[in-house]
Order: sequence, then C-alpha cells, then structure tokens
Amino acid sequence: MRKTLPTAADADGGPQGPPPSDGVPGELLAGRELLAWRRRCLASGGRAADLDWLLDLAGGLPWPTLQRVHLDPTKQVQLTRQRSALEALWRCHLETSKPLQYLVGRCPWRDLELQVAPGVLIPRQETELLVELARDRLACPPARWADLGTGSGCLAIALARLWPGVQGLAVDLSPLALAQAERNLQAAGVGEQVQLIQGSWWQPLRSSWGRLELVVANPPYIPTAVWAGLESGVREHEPVLALDGGADGLEAIRQVVAGAAQGLAPGGWLLLEHHHDQSPAVQELLTLAGLVETSAHRDLEGTWRFASARRGRRE
Ligand code: GLN
Repeated sequence: MRKTLPTAADADGGPQGPPPSDGVPGELLAGRELLAWRRRCLASGGRAADLDWLLDLAGGLPWPTLQRVHLDPTKQVQLTRQRSALEALWRCHLETSKPLQYLVGRCPWRDLELQVAPGVLIPRQETELLVELARDRLACPPARWADLGTGSGCLAIALARLWPGVQGLAVDLSPLALAQAERNLQAAGVGEQVQLIQGSWWQPLRSSWGRLELVVANPPYIPTAVWAGLESGVREHEPVLALDGGADGLEAIRQVVAGAAQGLAPGGWLLLEHHHDQSPAVQELLTLAGLVETSAHRDLEGTWRFASARRGRRE
C-alpha cells in the first residue's frame, strides 16, 4: 500500500513525525518487508550504519523506530520516500563511493541540519565540541568573532546562535564554500549576523586585526601522505583544499597561528582543531608565536583534537 506523506496518521515516524517529503510519495509497508529490503541492500555491500543513516535522513525513518521494527517486524513502517528511490541513492553510493551526505544533500551536525554539496567539506562530529570550548574560554560574549575556513558555515552558525547579538566574520578561500555557507546561514536565520568574506585565513580581515576577541578555525590538517591513504569517499569526493595540510599536516595551522599575535584583540582567544596526533606540535607552535594560556582539549570521543591560546593583554 502506498500513501503520500505527511498524511499517514498510523505511521510511527518518531517523536516529531516524519520529515517533509518534498512532495515525493512515501511508502507504507510491513516491518518484515523493510527488513528484507534492508538485507538485500546490504548484500550488495556497504555499512549497515550508513544504510540506516540513509533510511533516517532520506527515508524519514529514525533509528529508534528502526530498532523497534527489528524487535517487532509485524509493525507497519512509514517511509517518506519509496524504497526504489532510496535504493537508487544506495547503489550510487556503492558504485561511486560518493558520501551519502552529498547524495542526500544534507548533514546533521550538532542541533542543525546543514545543506552540503560536493566541493564543500561535510561537517564532522569531531568538530562539534569546539563551540562549547569557545564559549567556555570567554567570560562574556566577544565584541566580534571570526571563523577562518568556514566551509559549510557550521561553526559560524553555531557561534551566531550562541551569541545572537554579536557580529561574526566567516572567511573561506573557496567561492563554492562561501555560497554553501550563505545558504546555511540564511536557513538557520543568522544570515544578518555573519559577514562572509573570500580570502586566505587572516588576510581578508585586515581591517579587523587587533579587534577579534575570538577566532576559531578548522583548517586542513591531514598530512598529504595520510590523505592519500584515506577511503575513496573522502579522497575522491571531498575538497582536498579543506583536508590536505601539506607534508606534516601543519601548513595551514602555521599560517593561522602566525597571524594570531597581530590579528587577535589583546586578550583574545584562538581555538583550533587539529589531527589526532598533532597536539604537542600545535601547542609548541602557539607558544613559539608568543601566545599565552595555551591548552589542549579533547573532542567528544576523547581524542586530543583542539588547541586554545590567547594573545597577552599587554603588548
Ligand atoms: N576531521 C577531518 C577528517 O579527519 C579533517 C578535517 C580537516 O582537515 N580540517 O576527515
């Protein structure tokens, strides 16, 4: 039996119901039918967690609902898209290794759902905690903040929402990223709060140098040789500009750190994401740059993923 969403009152679509289906007809089916379909899809390859992600994001079937179907396959399940449409996305993912986030065009990150498209880095879970780390450095909202290498705009949106009265600056070298960030900022309702600027790291912010009380950056930091060994989904489809940090992975981080002593306001904070094994090197770079109160922080998985430091108050 088929139905068009969102009219299915008998469907178990999770606490908030199924997401909008954009006019695409959904499908109501027996749980055991769905499970058999899922097994068939997985027999072609791929990871179960990825297929379940697809079912959730593109099929409107939240993971807890799927778990309930596993426990009781007699349950009816409402999908917001037909299985054939989901299967086409899955096959494309298997055949081209294109990340599902690009195929679906969306990616959940923190409490947001961002639009993502090829050419722009898919926001990573390991970056999420950077927002709280930034908040916790500052006793009160900064007069002005900047996000260097904003990509999809994920950090800029989170900071804009954290401090609604504060203006932010978001920089990226890539016009594609800036266009994507613009769409995401508008969709999150913070478009007025963040100025998008094209350029390299600190360079386009010259007029704000010395007045930035917080600067965050998730620069490319993967050593080139490590990047070359990454899974093809990342290597072939995500922008190398956002990932490859040069021979030791620290090329972009060096540039960001180098600008901090001049670019930050006196007492202003720099907060950086880096690779899982770069914490000692980044701490050293920050100290050598003359920054103070340098410290390392773990991400949500417990990996030393971030570094913070500030410009001295009297210079
Ligand atoms: N954390 C990302 C990854 O490991 C890399 C992001 C970056 O280089 N800034 O895939």
